[in-house]
Amino acid sequence: MTEIRNIVILTGAGVSAESGIDTFRSAGGLWEQHRVEDVATPEAFARDPELVLRFYDMRRARIQEVQPNAAHQALARLDAEWKGGLLIITQNVDDLHERAGAGRLLHMHGEHLNAWCLACDGRHRWYGTLLDRPSCPTCGVPGQMRPDIVWFGEMPYRMNEIYAALNRADLFVSIGTSGAVYPAAGFVRDAREQGVRTLELNLEPSQGSHWFDEARHGPASEVVPEWVDELLRQQSG
Ligand code: NAD
Repeated sequence: MTEIRNIVILTGAGVSAESGIDTFRSAGGLWEQHRVEDVATPEAFARDPELVLRFYDMRRARIQEVQPNAAHQALARLDAEWKGGLLIITQNVDDLHERAGAGRLLHMHGEHLNAWCLACDGRHRWYGTLLDRPSCPTCGVPGQMRPDIVWFGEMPYRMNEIYAALNRADLFVSIGTSGAVYPAAGFVRDAREQGVRTLELNLEPSQGSHWFDEARHGPASEVVPEWVDELLRQQSG
């Protein structure tokens, strides 16, 4: 078996579920009582900005009430102790990975705690409301700030870096993601084509489970720390 040096980890909503943040499809296709199409598309924002901004205000407030769980903490420990290459690509828009201490991290779908000014393209850390259509702190233009979230139909961030990391990887691990949202859902196949070993850690078999060399099922707060311990033991052994 090839020695593992470079690891790429993809995380999804399942990693944050035990912190108390709803996953996407936890309630039968509704996301906090809204159809995704009504709140997470550019068309929805153009049609009903108030509804969309109110929804994201609520989500932004919610993530500030919750704490990282044992899965986030284990991944932060891996980041601190793994001597080889590591990139944690998260589809999550919460800040729980970084609050747990992870640094080698990339948010491919944006961040709840960032606001994006459509007038000057600036990004700003944002903890409060966007519903009152604030002015941009940089350019001063009012009413042009939107959540810095990659909506359906928009291009995820930093794809070049992601594919470069997948090309270098020896191991690709997917954690707490349903395998339903592309392009992230396709990373396992991209990895396989490069001959990279693949592992799924999820509560239950995901839509794409059959693409992985190995799958371990259970709550992220249990399976992730177990896997991290195993990997770090191998590194030191
Ligand atoms: P998803 O809701 O489609 O899938 C979640 C997956 O996590 C499922 O496969 C489920 O079985 C698994 N899961 C649920 N509880 C788990 C647990 N305790 N331990 C391990 N696995 C568990 O989410 P997704 O695949 O990330 O895709 C949805 C999109 O929605 C993403 O693009 C993301 O940006 C967005 N989203 C983000 C958050 C967040 O930031 N926390 C929350 C909801 C949705």
